[in-house]
Amino acid sequence: TYRQALAQASQFIKDHDQFLVVSHVNPDGDATGSVLAVAHLLHFLGKSYMLVNEGASPRRFSFLKGFEQIINLSETPVDQRFRYVIAVDVADQERLGEIGPLFSDDAELLNIDHHPTNTRFGQVNVIQPEAASTTEILYDLCQRHFQQAFAPDLAEALYTGLLTDTGGFRYANTTHKVLEMAADLLTYNLRPAKIAQYALETITTGHIKILKQALDTLTFAYEQQVALMSVSLEAIHQTGVDRDDIDGLVGYPSNIAGVKVGILLKEVEQGQVKVSLRSRDTVNVAEIAQVFGGGGHAKAAGFTYRGTLAEAKQALLAKLEEVLH
Ligand code: 5GP
Ligand code: MN
Ligand code: MN
Repeated sequence: TYRQALAQASQFIKDHDQFLVVSHVNPDGDATGSVLAVAHLLHFLGKSYMLVNEGASPRRFSFLKGFEQIINLSETPVDQRFRYVIAVDVADQERLGEIGPLFSDDAELLNIDHHPTNTRFGQVNVIQPEAASTTEILYDLCQRHFQQAFAPDLAEALYTGLLTDTGGFRYANTTHKVLEMAADLLTYNLRPAKIAQYALETITTGHIKILKQALDTLTFAYEQQVALMSVSLEAIHQTGVDRDDIDGLVGYPSNIAGVKVGILLKEVEQGQVKVSLRSRDTVNVAEIAQVFGGGGHAKAAGFTYRGTLAEAKQALLAKLEEVLH
């Protein structure tokens, strides 16, 4: 059960030390908030740890305490191996990215996640698909086993994951429990307006540049039930934008009235397309993403396609035709 899994997780943390804490590639607010929440907990317990991600963490979360501790492995090599690994918000091993060399041969992994597609790849697995965010699970873990650890920095990290994975308490995963948890976290004197501004609202000038180009690519399919937008390598180079700038574009096709599935196709390198899917209806986009080797949630999912933008679009539209009929 969930309670037993939380107890196992607390034991894993209590029994060991010198942890490697990781999340998924292209980390979001839940991944970043979860990594930092675990860091605050480990610090409170007097344990040592290293926080590593395959790539850079989004700058919009740099307001979180400890953000600068997260090592970007693509910039900073780490020649250390860890026996005890804590993975948060990671659905499967592939989502960890290229961090395998940091694991010792006898590594033991604690897998804490809320994706229904989680493959239970850890030695200890705490998988709760009913949780709105991984930070909700970490909140439960601390409530049950590390009550004394609650403090403003921990609360802010937990709150940020909850806020971002519920789209600012707007998505269907915004439950009674979510808002109770948020209310409790606010007792630590957080500044919810500031957190929302940093985590959700602020856009970069680069975002506006790439949005202008992306809107020109907006197309519809299947009686406007599907809307697609794409970002080519050429557009990325021409505008000089980075990943942080592109963040959030998928909302534009997805939020159009009548659209059931919104799609963003992003050419990340030649022959490789990152696809983001959003459902505004009953279509389960996690199932579609899984067909292409990806995963996620029923209403937000993604995968990486090997091929050109046009090929990715064609393959996806063929699959969607089946699903919409
Ligand atoms: P996004 O479209 O924002 O990148 O991702 C939306 C959701 O789908 C997130 O919950 C993310 O974890 C999941 N997701 C995105 N890409 C992949 C992927 O390639 N594999 C898996 N398993 N999940 C993904
Ligand atoms: Mn995530
Ligand atoms: Mn999450």
